[in-house]
Amino acid sequence: MPRLIVAGLALALSFALCGAALAKPHAHPAPPTPGPPDPAATAAALRDKALSDPTAWDFVESLTTEVGPRLAGTVQAERGKDWGLARLKALGFENVHAEPFAITAWVRGAESAEVTAPFPQKLMVIGLGGSPSTPSGGIEAEIALFHSYADLLAAPPGSLAGKIAVVAQAMTRTQDGAGYGAATIWRRRGPVEAARRGAIAYLVRSISTSSSRTPHTGKADYVDEIQKIPAAALGVPDAELLERMVARGKPVRVRLMLESREIPNAPAWNVVGEIPGSEKPDEVVAIGGHMDSWDPGQGAIDDGAGMAITVAAARLIGELPRHPRRTVRVVLFGAEEMDFADRAFGAAHKADAGQFVVTSESDSGSGPVWQLQLPKGALQAPALAAVPALMAPLKVIISTQPSLFSGSDFSGIEAGGVPSFSFRPDVTHYFDVHHSADDTLDQVDRAGLDQSVAAWAALVYLIADSDVDFRALAPPAH
Ligand code: ZN
Ligand code: ZN
Repeated sequence: MPRLIVAGLALALSFALCGAALAKPHAHPAPPTPGPPDPAATAAALRDKALSDPTAWDFVESLTTEVGPRLAGTVQAERGKDWGLARLKALGFENVHAEPFAITAWVRGAESAEVTAPFPQKLMVIGLGGSPSTPSGGIEAEIALFHSYADLLAAPPGSLAGKIAVVAQAMTRTQDGAGYGAATIWRRRGPVEAARRGAIAYLVRSISTSSSRTPHTGKADYVDEIQKIPAAALGVPDAELLERMVARGKPVRVRLMLESREIPNAPAWNVVGEIPGSEKPDEVVAIGGHMDSWDPGQGAIDDGAGMAITVAAARLIGELPRHPRRTVRVVLFGAEEMDFADRAFGAAHKADAGQFVVTSESDSGSGPVWQLQLPKGALQAPALAAVPALMAPLKVIISTQPSLFSGSDFSGIEAGGVPSFSFRPDVTHYFDVHHSADDTLDQVDRAGLDQSVAAWAALVYLIADSDVDFRALAPPAH
């Protein structure tokens, strides 16, 4: 007999028995009909399950081992896209697809630097993203060393003519990333500010909290109207070495050789997967991280970890017997480091931006999250009243400041008025290895990763199962 019929008979029998029992006047009272599960209780269960769920760790372990670094516009990045599509499908996501866009890719070639006088020795450097090549054979010139970026800005126009400008300012280690926020401009704007004053090349002490010689790369922001000069980051001890040489009073000369090439119209992709909502699938809670990474490391903490956290959180939600009412969408952005994916995503979703309830990116490593910023007014919504208690066991505090920015990649649609929330991980050690060859799997904090998944899963579920309209809570000021 087909199993369905057996099951049907058993069901009919149980209904019959049930009916008979109810007919008796003094039978046991019927058990209460189970109502819809309490969303806060479901969120708490997700949180607790996440703490021992292997999905996030397996994600980043597999990605770093089977793909490795994923510089946008390269074959490695395409392998990352294919890996991402396969992984999301294997984890049970639906509507898995890639949203293609084109970028001008930047690819590194050979690089070297050395002091030629007065104390010849090698320097550890890495070219900044977007840097042009030096002439073949390199540039050899006297350096103009500044102990702070402010000192560079104070140099008058023309004062650096024919020189290699060096900014040797040390980054401040902080838990909340403020040290990086203050320092990125030395790398991003330094080449333009040095060129504006006549410099022929630019070197910056790595934006790093480590004392390792391994230099840290990252994007330089060139502008069309200012000469694009070759730019590289020095290993931290190498910047300190130059400071000691300069202190001895003689001119210090450096030879810098950088090679790179640009690939116009290189393909890139934002990879998408969904946990479709059970009642309002057109309302989307969008979370994610970025698939591309800098080339020297494995892209483990930046941003394998961020993708892993958001994918694992969404997957736990997808495994529930009943999906939340709204859709949870995960986006693995394909070109964050060179600032392309946000514009591509913003342009691709300009017409349907209204469907995004809230967005949030995880792009600050695997340290435990310690603070949550919500959209303005969110805690006044009864459906989210449980958030502080849900976060308490994870030692995540709720910021009194609303989230204004959740990460680079959603900024394109957030600029159009889409609300954001923001989990802030402890980045005390993140900038020791960020953007360097040391961004490898061993740097991933597994306990921090799991704690992060727990926080994300609980909050994302609660929002996705609610009716909260963040735009109505804080209408844009006119
Ligand atoms: Zn990143
Ligand atoms: Zn990065």
